[in-house]
Amino acid sequence: LASAAQAEWFIDDAAIMGTNIEVQVWADSARQGQQAIDTVFAEMERVNQLMSPYIDSSELSRVNRLAANEDVVVSEEMFNLIRYANKISQQTGGAFDITFASVGFLYNYRAAQRPDEQTINANLDAINYRHLELDEHNSSIRFRHPNVKIDLGGIAKGHAVDKAVDQLITMGIEHAMVTAGGDTRLLGDRLGRPWMVGIRDPRNPDRQAVMLPLSDIAISTSGDYERYFEEEGQRYHHIISPKTGKSTYEVQSVSILGPSSTTNDALSTSVFVLGVQAGIDLINQIPEVEAIILDDHRRMHFSSGLTQ
Ligand code: ADP
Ligand code: MG
Ligand code: MG
Repeated sequence: LASAAQAEWFIDDAAIMGTNIEVQVWADSARQGQQAIDTVFAEMERVNQLMSPYIDSSELSRVNRLAANEDVVVSEEMFNLIRYANKISQQTGGAFDITFASVGFLYNYRAAQRPDEQTINANLDAINYRHLELDEHNSSIRFRHPNVKIDLGGIAKGHAVDKAVDQLITMGIEHAMVTAGGDTRLLGDRLGRPWMVGIRDPRNPDRQAVMLPLSDIAISTSGDYERYFEEEGQRYHHIISPKTGKSTYEVQSVSILGPSSTTNDALSTSVFVLGVQAGIDLINQIPEVEAIILDDHRRMHFSSGLTQ
């Protein structure tokens, strides 16, 4: 009883993985609350050190430096995530492909720089997840093409959220929200009420296009407003079609709901590339996963599980 009387919400945020991390936990004591928040931030930072393309000592950077010339042994966590990314590539007909970076790394959104047509075309055949050779026995990876680069930006934040929530569950936490940029996972409800999660209006950062009452689920949103620059009225944003090496324009945002933040993250990027029809068709085939798409005319589209 004494400890129940001290239970309260603990809320904090931090800038990690190039994005805003938000945590809300219901904890029995200030000590447990602080420990839970510290654990989430530490887990995000750990995944960042492993998977960031901006950190020279990350496993990802090491793979990109060496794997065209030798088998590179990686951690089990890295190996499994790359293998899962390849599975999503197969499932999405190549719309999701971590080798998009072979061209994707030539864009610099902050500096408003993009590769010219010739450079894109010269590097386009390096984009193909089938160039990645994964040796399960040695936990190693090898690029079967000299110009391949990989980037986990479309899946790593979802993975980090799942890892952080796993830790909270281990600690005995039953009500929590963990958000990394567009990737959110909810543990339990907000004490007898659902969490209210907004999907942002893609053209107005202060407005929500929809508010969703949600419990015990994860939601990821991919938008063309997260990282982009404009040139002569054209928006160059961070979601790249592996077929063209360029941004796609059929939709403005995609939200995916389902139990796994890792899966939602990968599928939100995938459906963004696939567009409305192919995207909804894909999601309708996957059990436990739903989609909300805002198209380039600001129309909303729902997967079948949300319209019944
Ligand atoms: P956010 O970065 O806001 O979470 P997404 O989950 O949609 O948004 O991820 C976008 C990121 O995914 C890009 O910044 C890039 O790192 C990566 N990416 C872009 N295009 C692809 C693609 N076709 N397949 C896999 N990853 C991609
Ligand atoms: Mg994603
Ligand atoms: Mg994401």
